Amino acid sequence: MSSYGQRYDDDDDAPKARSAAQLFYEFDCPQCSANNPWPDGFKHKEEISCHYCGASFEARLTDEGKLKLKEL
Ligand SMILES: [Zn+2]
Repeated sequence: MSSYGQRYDDDDDAPKARSAAQLFYEFDCPQCSANNPWPDGFKHKEEISCHYCGASFEARLTDEGKLKLKEL
């Protein structure tokens, strides 16, 4: 009858937590459009730089789990 207490398992954070740990193995440079393979993988908040033009970016994940690069 009363099953309160079982409903605290709010899964709202699950998708975000999963994408925050997501690794990317390449990115397209916003500056020169070069495709940069990144064999070690990078994730949210990590710093990466373009092998071609040398521009540095911080990797950001959007709420949709898409990669966005913030210029440093
Ligand atoms: Zn570049």
